[in-house]
Amino acid sequence: MPEPVLAEIAKPVIHHRTSQFRDIFADLSQRLQRLFGTEGPVLTLAGSGTTAFEAAQVSLIAPGPAPRALTVASGKFGERWQDIYQACRVEQIRLNVTWGSCPTAEQVAQALQENPDISVVTLVHSETSTATACDLQSIAQAVREHGCDALLIVDGITSVAALPLHMDEWGIDVLVTGSQKALMLPPGLGFVGLGPRAVHRLQQVKPDGCYSLDLRRWLESWQDRDVPFTPPVNLIRGQRLALEMIESHGIADVWARTAELADMTRGRLQSMGLQLISDSPSDSLTGAFYPSGVNDGAFRAALREKHAIQIAGGQDGRGGQWKGKIFRISHMGHVDADDTRAALDAIETQLTAAGHAIG
Ligand SMILES: *Cc1c(COP(=O)(O)O)cnc(C)c1O
Repeated sequence: MPEPVLAEIAKPVIHHRTSQFRDIFADLSQRLQRLFGTEGPVLTLAGSGTTAFEAAQVSLIAPGPAPRALTVASGKFGERWQDIYQACRVEQIRLNVTWGSCPTAEQVAQALQENPDISVVTLVHSETSTATACDLQSIAQAVREHGCDALLIVDGITSVAALPLHMDEWGIDVLVTGSQKALMLPPGLGFVGLGPRAVHRLQQVKPDGCYSLDLRRWLESWQDRDVPFTPPVNLIRGQRLALEMIESHGIADVWARTAELADMTRGRLQSMGLQLISDSPSDSLTGAFYPSGVNDGAFRAALREKHAIQIAGGQDGRGGQWKGKIFRISHMGHVDADDTRAALDAIETQLTAAGHAIG
């Protein structure tokens, strides 16, 4: 997170039912629309990325045996969206893809062909648990061309402000992200962009068993430049400033920097003799398998304690057991080539210390 954003968040708290707050909120909303590439509303919810995605899921399809959702999973987060529909008793067709690979437009088109009653499709653009990105533009096109009225709900939590993405141009109905990945803010905000088909669907579906996650409430307030419940005022201020910083660089520059850091990281890790975890790597982060003999906990603790560098480990899910087997490096947010080189140097040092021979 950039220092000016942290300083903005530290300012005194203003009351949220004031014109001062409404001006800040309206400015944030416009910046979010430009970032998402949409003319439609982008709602700002208090909560994490999961809160925002769950709100989109439960607001756009009612529980029961029909219609059904097509839920695409190729990692931990896609599996979570399946778990949410399971918990809410929405009937789903699961399309599961091997961890480290990405779902394709052909697979999605075929699943829609075989199941004409699908009314929403959930998809993760950048699957952070496997550091894998899919071809979102082609998949969105496949959903549109299929001719059914299925809505495409996209988890863009590690792709918005990291990977090239144009919501309206690509025909994405719902795009969700969170504040703490590429948006340079602490955790606490979730965002839901709604295209025209999604806005229309909201008026038709009667969500069951939810109140504060019912997006109709958020949309109604948004149209009035407002929020339905007490918002995290200071995070909203901070997010407004972070987006101003992103826009002052230009979003294309941010995408290019992310891609350069990813490219450099993949090259360095491979030259250390490591195998990447993905056959379709996302530029927002890079993951590699540990070489044999390196202990995950000890390795990451050494990076943290000796080098002040925080990287992530792996996760376990239904489609993979990667806890202790992999590590992941972020290229999102307020991070540059010097930070990334320092991390890679430290990784090389600690791998060598753990007995991995680097040629
Ligand atoms: C981090 C992440 C989530 C979960 O977001 P929370 O803010 O932790 O709820 C979901 N999907 C993806 C792709 C993520 O990277």
